[in-house]
Formats: sequence, C-alpha cells, structure tokens
Amino acid sequence: MNDCLFCKIINEDIPSTKIYEDDKVFVFADIEPTAPIHWLAIPKEHIERLSDVNEANSEVISHIYEVISSLASQHEEFKNGFRVVSNCGEAAGQSVFHIHFHVLAGRDFAWPAG
Ligand code: 5GP
Ligand code: ZN
Repeated sequence: MNDCLFCKIINEDIPSTKIYEDDKVFVFADIEPTAPIHWLAIPKEHIERLSDVNEANSEVISHIYEVISSLASQHEEFKNGFRVVSNCGEAAGQSVFHIHFHVLAGRDFAWPAG
C-alpha cells in the first residue's frame, strides 16, 4: 500500500529503530513510547486491522506472537510481565490502519485499560 505509513517503514522509505525483521514480520520502536519498552510488531503484508484477520491471512498473526515470545525471552524488561495490545478501529484508539501489536514492557500496567 503506497500511502501507508507502516508499509513505508517496512520498506525503509521512512526510518525507524528496527528491533527485529524476518520475511513476514517487522518490529520497531514506537516513536512516542509509553513504557521503557514500547515496540510495534507488524506483518509485512498490509492488513488494515484486527477485524480483517481471517482463515486466509491469520498464519502471520500466530507468527507475530512467536516472535514476541522469543524477543520477550531475550530482554530482561519482560521478566516480570508485559502487555500486547492491538487497537482495532477509531473508538479503540487505532490511528494507523496497518494492523500492529503494541509490545509494552518495563513497568507495571493498570487494568482495566482506559
Ligand atoms: P495506534 O494508535 O494506531 O494503536 O498506534 C499507532 C502507533 O504508531 C502510536 O503509538 C504512534 O506513536 C506510532 N507511530 C505513529 N507514527 C509513527 C512513526 O512515524 N514512526 C514510529 N516508529 N511510530 C509511529
Ligand atoms: Zn501498510
């Protein structure tokens, strides 16, 4: 998708702090972190939002969770717990319409979410 911010980040047309990359997944630091670790894990395939995940494209989503689990085991900040969030739609706070998983660690997190 030419006009998608996160597709541009994947293609490195827009710079980001890359944490991890493979053939299907890209993980980079959020530009406005809300925790000591605040990463965004995204599929390279442009899927707009969580409600667009289906039988045909969900394999990459399970792969994203494998990647997050692996990264968590490699970083001390995840030891006491961490949070993964995907905002779906405007009312939930989604502002970039390329599905992404916020990966948050390094502090305590309140529940319920705001
Ligand atoms: P959402 O609000 O859609 O759940 O999350 C979008 C996230 O993308 C926000 O946390 C925001 O800080 C991050 N973001 C927006 N623009 C950029 C950018 O150009 N670079 C990076 N690294 N993060 C961005
Ligand atoms: Zn995109």
